[in-house]
Amino acid sequence: MALHMSSLFLRTLREDPADAEVPSHRLLVRAGYVRRVSPGVYTWLPLGLRVLRNVERIVREEMDAIGAQELLFPALLPKEPFEATGRWTEYGDNIFRVQDRKGADHLLGPTHEEMFTLAVKDLFSSYKDLPLSIYQIQTKFRDEARPRAGVLRGREFVMKDSYSFDVDEAGLDKSYQLHRDAYVRIFDRLGFHYVIVEAMAGAMGGSKSEEFLATAEVGEDTYVRCTSCGYAANVEAVRVPTPSPVAFDGLPAAHVEDTPATPTIETLVDHLNTHFPREDRPWVAGDTLKNVVVMLVHPDGRREPLAIGLPGDREVDEKRLGAQVEPAEVEAFDEKAFAEHPGLVKGYIGPGALGTEGTTGIRYLLDPRVAEGTRWVTGANEPGRHVVDLVAGRDFTADGTIEAAEVRVGDQCPNCEHPLETARGIEMGHVFQLGTKYAEALDLKVLDQNGKLVTVVMGSYGVGVSRAVACVAEGNHDELGLIWPRELSPVDVHIVATGKDEPVFVAAEEIARNLEAQGLSVLVDDRKGVSPGVKFKDSELIGVPTIVVVGRGLASGVVEVKDRRSGARREVAVGEVVDAVV
Ligand code: ATP
Ligand code: MG
Ligand code: MG
Ligand code: MG
Repeated sequence: MALHMSSLFLRTLREDPADAEVPSHRLLVRAGYVRRVSPGVYTWLPLGLRVLRNVERIVREEMDAIGAQELLFPALLPKEPFEATGRWTEYGDNIFRVQDRKGADHLLGPTHEEMFTLAVKDLFSSYKDLPLSIYQIQTKFRDEARPRAGVLRGREFVMKDSYSFDVDEAGLDKSYQLHRDAYVRIFDRLGFHYVIVEAMAGAMGGSKSEEFLATAEVGEDTYVRCTSCGYAANVEAVRVPTPSPVAFDGLPAAHVEDTPATPTIETLVDHLNTHFPREDRPWVAGDTLKNVVVMLVHPDGRREPLAIGLPGDREVDEKRLGAQVEPAEVEAFDEKAFAEHPGLVKGYIGPGALGTEGTTGIRYLLDPRVAEGTRWVTGANEPGRHVVDLVAGRDFTADGTIEAAEVRVGDQCPNCEHPLETARGIEMGHVFQLGTKYAEALDLKVLDQNGKLVTVVMGSYGVGVSRAVACVAEGNHDELGLIWPRELSPVDVHIVATGKDEPVFVAAEEIARNLEAQGLSVLVDDRKGVSPGVKFKDSELIGVPTIVVVGRGLASGVVEVKDRRSGARREVAVGEVVDAVV
């Protein structure tokens, strides 16, 4: 049955919502696709739900096509499996924790490695059962430090997560490649520009991991790419643009300054204004630490890069270095520091862990614990230069002290020495060779061909399904509203009936029926007493790719078919609308 504007559960808005920072957020709210419930928590209204379902359909088709089997886990999970893998504490503030009436701890699942591992352990026991890929499309919960941009970074969001199970590394390589290929097809069909970048590996055991980043300025991920050989990597990956002693020693001497005084956020700001004055305006507390690197000098002379990161990135930092940040300490610091500096974007800068975005633009606060007897050294840094390649285990120890670091000074590609470019993207998908980490922690073993127990080798693969809706909207809009690709559009055709004449409305319904008979879905603007101007504006805002206007022309047997994207219009005989649109 066609949707009708006269009865559709929808109110479009003329004004931008006050909290919307990015176009997709603004337009999805204004066009009545989503409504905010609380920070990072959104209701999907009928039109939005249709788009979400379309994304799900594409993802489901491509997962099924590689033989992955769909199942569905609960979101409400017991604590114990997450304790076994250490993630109950590692996740810190990022998970929602709940207790049942008996006081037993639960969590709302942020991702499901533990549950999938246990399910396979429950049902399978032999190499003959493998390989296996299973997936779900399910609601996840993460208490994100900075929910942002509507459904782009939600605290409740829909993810497709799949997991592969193999007897050995060679099997994992195959499963990984199958998923990677499926992701290429998914993201091609979703129709946005994306790059595949090397993602964080390092301390996770050197296993392979790649991200699919939709190229977008509003993205929160920064990546480098080589235009010559195609190398691309998230700056979170191996090359960490963070100061190291070697990087410091490599800086031009004139740019390296020891701070004389006890460091506080204020003395750092003074120091920056004295030695690294900016052209546009002075540095202030809370500024992005851009183009300047900061090194701690401990009372014993030991040098250490300042950690720069977000509370939400703690897990990443810990993994990279091998668990050393005390969550309780960081939390206590966060609370105190942010209480004292209201209005600053959350982030911390302190000793002990290497941050990832020191030169790419995180706002920070200085950890007050740094102050005692510690000096710092600062140096100028240019984006894309002094790129430091630090490898856990080789270049620094578990307590975060740096032994030696191989430094690639310059802005060159590690493969072909061509210049690297920096750009931003939205993480849309993530494929990850987990290896045996979860299988070991939860004791998932199968009997191999020789009757010997072997630990299962796993991969995990995520797609941001609800994020994709925002991401597609981000890449497909103009100043008038959204412009959906046909495969994602809430309906195929938007019929606008204008004027007061009854035959117009009758004809609109008949065209709708004919289109539906051809398998197309239709929205009819059948509102009476609403001006054509308002109807046209709504149709542009809602963004269905094909708009059919039934109005005055009907008397001479024609309607207008409009292409939302190009704006092109043409007159078509009533009897030929179906052919013109299909
Ligand atoms: P991000 O770096 O953006 O925080 P992530 O690396 O934490 O994402 P993964 O754990 O890799 O995310 O989850 C798989 C996918 O789920 C991501 O690639 C992303 O598309 C999506 N996703 C993750 N967090 C969110 C969120 N808060 N809101 C919407 N989608 C998300
Ligand atoms: Mg995250
Ligand atoms: Mg990420
Ligand atoms: Mg990820």
